[in-house]
Amino acid sequence: MTNPAVRAVHIAWFRDDLRIADNPALFAALEGNDGGTLTIAVYVHDEVSENIRPLGSAARWWLHHGLRELRAQLSELGVPLVLHQGTALLKIPEATEALRQHFGLNPEDLSVYWNRRYGGGERAVDASLMELLRGQGATVSSFSATLLHEPWTVQTQEQRPYKVFTPFHNAAQLIPLRPALPAPSNAQQARAPEMPAGEELDSWGLLPSRPDWSAGLAAAWTPGEAAAHERLGVVLQDVAADYLLGRDRPGIDGTSRLSPALRWGHLSPVQVWEALGAVAATHPEAAEGARAMMRQLAWRDFCWNQLYHRPDLGRVNLRTEFNEFDWAWPTGLLPTPASGRPAAKPPTVPSDAVQGQINALHEAWCRGETGFPLVDAGMRELWETGWMHNRVRMVTASLLVKNLGIHWRAGEAWFWDTLVDADPASNPANWQWVAGCGADAAPYFRVFNPVLQAKKFDAQGRYRARFGPLLNQEPVVDLKESRAAALAAYEHMRHSA
Ligand code: FAD
Repeated sequence: MTNPAVRAVHIAWFRDDLRIADNPALFAALEGNDGGTLTIAVYVHDEVSENIRPLGSAARWWLHHGLRELRAQLSELGVPLVLHQGTALLKIPEATEALRQHFGLNPEDLSVYWNRRYGGGERAVDASLMELLRGQGATVSSFSATLLHEPWTVQTQEQRPYKVFTPFHNAAQLIPLRPALPAPSNAQQARAPEMPAGEELDSWGLLPSRPDWSAGLAAAWTPGEAAAHERLGVVLQDVAADYLLGRDRPGIDGTSRLSPALRWGHLSPVQVWEALGAVAATHPEAAEGARAMMRQLAWRDFCWNQLYHRPDLGRVNLRTEFNEFDWAWPTGLLPTPASGRPAAKPPTVPSDAVQGQINALHEAWCRGETGFPLVDAGMRELWETGWMHNRVRMVTASLLVKNLGIHWRAGEAWFWDTLVDADPASNPANWQWVAGCGADAAPYFRVFNPVLQAKKFDAQGRYRARFGPLLNQEPVVDLKESRAAALAAYEHMRHSA
């Protein structure tokens, strides 16, 4: 059926940018609407495209609620959200063609807008789609929205990626930041009583059932743009001022806890940067804390910079000498040549008994049953709430990689499945950082001692009391011996590399 009121269709394709404010793609899709244009929001749940990492379980939970919230906000603007599942390479052209036919439009009457992505698989999809849609006559426009600065804009003078954070940060700060956009006001939409239908969100099965383990997540978080802004308000008012001290105290509300909001794009880093910058400029007592938090946002950009230049960041040691390292692999993660195993050296095939021990240690770590109260509290915080304090992320990761001798990829995979803020850049980049094989990584010999870390950063035991197991068990590993073994293995690797 032809609807004469619709003369053009603008499609805003949402991805990791589930917000309406400071969303350049949505903004452009609504701009210049004279009443004859229909702006439609589309989201494609793509778990099949090559090299796009399927979401973990906690992320799927967040996505469900994030999309529900987005739909509500868009509907206040008068913009419908249409959902599709499958490879975007097929679904976006199908959706545009269905709209074109439905409204009896020419290809030139269609425009598609999106905010750019930086993962290898995502970039390949976007580039192919841009070519295809433009070839069909549609207009395609893409924007910078999810980082402070796009990866190719922060490079050394030799046009190479930075490998060390501080020069990266210094160079990035010289580049002017785009100003954040306001939320669009009510759209003047063309009349479209009927539209090609999309899929039902509930039919995607993103929420856990049998069992539904999400109660802890729901108690800890409210996904969506409105809740993210509310939290940002608390951060600006209370948290930023004490961040320098609070950031290392897992027992208090001392960090922004904005990582899921940034991961899903309920807030843009530019919005947060601007807001913190304003605090720093106007509240001298909070300036240092606000600036330290801004620096962390730059770490997020640095991680994306790494992924942009190394799309295999989640699989391959950035420092290749670590390919010789004798890490253990739990079953299920046992590297095989077919799975693109990163190590150059063939893995030692352990006896069944040894493999059993590796699996048991890995499981104890995942379950928070290592016998180290800070580590166990962290792993239980993660399981219960889908998030873990940064200090504890470093300590738990160090224990897995250095004391238990298990490959960082096993820990990265567990975090990927359980974190609500799991992102394909920050997660592997930080795991590589802890393991010593990443960009600007912690030196390998820096092995966190979970007992000393607990004394220093959770002196009153608040965090351990809140999340730790009721009864402490025997440690699964001797810290001193395992540290010495790790350092010996490192020396061995250095001499054989
Ligand atoms: P704040 O301290 O308030 O920092 C503000 C923002 O800066 C964060 O929301 C985050 O977006 C960014 N940020 C802070 N620290 C880092 C960092 N080291 N690297 C990158 N960005 C940073 N962060 C993720 O967002 N997703 C992940 O999957 C992730 N995996 C990690 C895995 C390990 C092993 C480690 C050690 C760290 C990981 N981090 C990850 C980084 C960091 O732990 C979290 O970003 C931080 O704990 C989030 O809490 P916050 O929002 O209160 O951070």
